[in-house]
Amino acid sequence: MTGVTGPLASLLEGLLVAVVGLCLGSLVGLVSHRLPRDQAVVLARSRCPRCGNCLAPRDLIPLVSFLALDGRCRHCGAPLSWRYPAIELVGAALCLAIWASADLTVEAVLAIGLATTLLTIAISDLETLIIPDELVVVCFLLGFADLLLGGGGDLVDRLGGLALAVGPVVAVRQLFSARHGRHGIGLGDVKLFAAAGFWLGVEGVPWLFVIAGGIGVLTALVWRVRGQGPMFPFGIGIAAGWFVLSFPM
Ligand SMILES: [Zn+2]
Repeated sequence: MTGVTGPLASLLEGLLVAVVGLCLGSLVGLVSHRLPRDQAVVLARSRCPRCGNCLAPRDLIPLVSFLALDGRCRHCGAPLSWRYPAIELVGAALCLAIWASADLTVEAVLAIGLATTLLTIAISDLETLIIPDELVVVCFLLGFADLLLGGGGDLVDRLGGLALAVGPVVAVRQLFSARHGRHGIGLGDVKLFAAAGFWLGVEGVPWLFVIAGGIGVLTALVWRVRGQGPMFPFGIGIAAGWFVLSFPM
């Protein structure tokens, strides 16, 4: 941005971050829908669920296409899901919040990567009760990147965090299953706890249990009230706890 300084530069930078956030949000909407359903993530074209027509590139511009089409399919007029523009807006809000607190640093880029991955996990778990392994692997890779960039704690502390997070969760899982004959905590939740413990280190894990546990209890209550079966999306609480503890804003 040579030649542009002061408030104008900040405004342009903020706009750029918002646009990147909308695009990342669009990716989150796509991946969180396709990955848990074992659908091709990259090569398959998006289609209208009613008439089956492929969406043209001009129909895929985040938020803009939805507004321009007044929320309806160009071909058959079927209402388009508000899910996509809503997730795109959340993506933009997350990116703007991280940019506002950390500027355009390597740490901010890493934080945006983690935030969008956690958002994808939370939505996937909410809609399908599945936390795809691929997303947990991305979380671990981001954790290694964070370690290499000096994001606090050494490898021993990170591995300690991982063990501290997984141990009690596996113990509760086994106890629950011995008593009720089914697993109360899914394997996806255990893996996500492991990745979160590795990122947060020993000190962060007790807080992770407090926040994830609190949100988990609320989610379970909502699930029960709505009569949506015995399994509930615990991943939302784990992802939210991890996010809050990673980026105190
Ligand atoms: Zn259509």
